[in-house]
Amino acid sequence: MRAINEIILHCTATVEGQDVSVETIDRWHRERKFSSIGYHFVIGLDGTVHEGRPLERIGAHTKGHNEHSIGIAYVGGLDADRNPKDTRTDAQKTALTKLIQHLDEQYPVKKVSGHNAYSAKACPCFDASIYNSLLKNPSGSSLTIADSTLSRHDEGCTVEAWQKQLRKAGFDLNITGFFDEVTEQATRLFQSQQDIVEDGEVGPQTHAVMEAQLPSHDEAQTFAKDALFVEKAALYLPRLMKDLLIGRDGAAAILGNLGHESAGFRHLQQINGSAYGWAQWDGTRKTNFFKWCDTYSLDKASDEANYGFLLHELRTSEKATLADLAAARGLEAKTIAFEQSYERAGIKHYDSRIRYARLAAQHGVLTLTGEPKSSVRAINTLSQLQFALNFLGANAGPTDNIMGPKTSAAISRFQSHTQLPENGSVSPELVAAVQAVFIAFDGLLQGPHQ
Ligand SMILES: [Zn+2]
Repeated sequence: MRAINEIILHCTATVEGQDVSVETIDRWHRERKFSSIGYHFVIGLDGTVHEGRPLERIGAHTKGHNEHSIGIAYVGGLDADRNPKDTRTDAQKTALTKLIQHLDEQYPVKKVSGHNAYSAKACPCFDASIYNSLLKNPSGSSLTIADSTLSRHDEGCTVEAWQKQLRKAGFDLNITGFFDEVTEQATRLFQSQQDIVEDGEVGPQTHAVMEAQLPSHDEAQTFAKDALFVEKAALYLPRLMKDLLIGRDGAAAILGNLGHESAGFRHLQQINGSAYGWAQWDGTRKTNFFKWCDTYSLDKASDEANYGFLLHELRTSEKATLADLAAARGLEAKTIAFEQSYERAGIKHYDSRIRYARLAAQHGVLTLTGEPKSSVRAINTLSQLQFALNFLGANAGPTDNIMGPKTSAAISRFQSHTQLPENGSVSPELVAAVQAVFIAFDGLLQGPHQ
C-alpha cells in the first residue's frame, strides 16, 4: 500500500440537484485519457459513498499532490448558472464527515485540503480546512494558514484564524473572515513592526513570525474545535427561524445552548453521566428521545434525529420555551432564557452558552441571505413594510405604498430601537431587521407550525 497522509476534497463541477454516477465520471475521465476515474470516492446527492479508483492506486485529481493523497468528490459544485457554489446536501455533508473519520481511522491522515489549495480553481467550493478538526493527529492547527498565502479578497476560516492572531497581537480589527482593507492594513503594520517584507499578504514568513510572537496557539486550536459547530450552526440557524418562526437571536440562543451542551456537537454522550444528544437529554426526556428515534427509525446520533426531536419538544411538551424566548430581549437574555426554560441545567455556564450563541449568530448570517423570501411573511413591498411597522407599533400610517413623512418617522423610530443608523430611509438591512422582528412576534401570535 502506498503511504497516505492527506485527503483532498473536490466537487464534480456539475449543476446543483443533478446526480452523476461513478460510471459517468469514469467515462469522462477516460475521455481525458486517464486510465480510469481519478477520484477514490464519489458522494452522491443522497449521501451514498461510491468507490472510484481503488485506494491502493495513486489517484488523478490534484496535479502534483496525488501520490500520498485520497481524492474525494461530492456531486455538485455549480449553481444553475454554472457559477461555483457549495451545493452539498445535508446527506452529503454527513457522509463526508463520516468518510473522513473512517479514513482517518485507517490511515495516518495529517490534513484535509481542498483542490483550491493547490490550484487556482474554486473546487470544492467550500473551505475544506475545517475538516482538519476531525483528524486524530492533524499536523498542527496552524497548517492551513502556513500552507497558503492569504491576501486581499480571500475569505474563510483561514482568514478568520489570521484575524484572530492579529487581534491577539494587539491590532484592533473585527473578525469577519474577509481579508478586507483593514486586515490588509493591520497585516502591513505588523510586517513593518517585525521588519519583514511589507506586502500586506500572509505567506509562510509572515505566518512564522506571528507564530513566534504569540505565546501559544490556543486561539487557533479553539477555532479548530469550533469548526463543526460553526458548520452546523450555519445550517440550522435559518432552519430554526423558519421551522419555529423565530428571529435570529432566538435561533442563535438555541444553538448556543446546544453548542455548550454537546461541546460544539462533538460529544453526544455525556462524559461523566448518562445524558445524550444535542441538548443532553436525560431521564424521561432521554427515554422519550430514544423512543421517538425508534418510532421514526432514526439513528439517535444523526442530525436528523436530534433536530427532529428538538422541534418535536418545542412544539409539544416544551412549547412554553418559545414564549419565554420571545419575551427575553437580546441574544444574551434569550440564551439564558432558553437555558432556564428548556435545558434547566444543573450547572449553568452562561459564558460558554453565550460564546456559542455569538458564534452561531455570526456564522448563520451567510446562509440566511434570501432565505425568508419564499415565505409569506417576507417583506417585498413598501406597503408590506408599512404593515409590519404598524404591527410592531411604530405607526407608519396607511399601508398605501407611498413613502410619506409618517412612514419615514416610523422607520426612524424602528431604527432608534435597533442598532441601525437612524435615517428614516429604506435599506436592505432595515427590511431584514423589520422582517426578523416581525417574524418573531408573528410566530409567537400564530403558534409554531406543525
Ligand atoms: Zn477538484
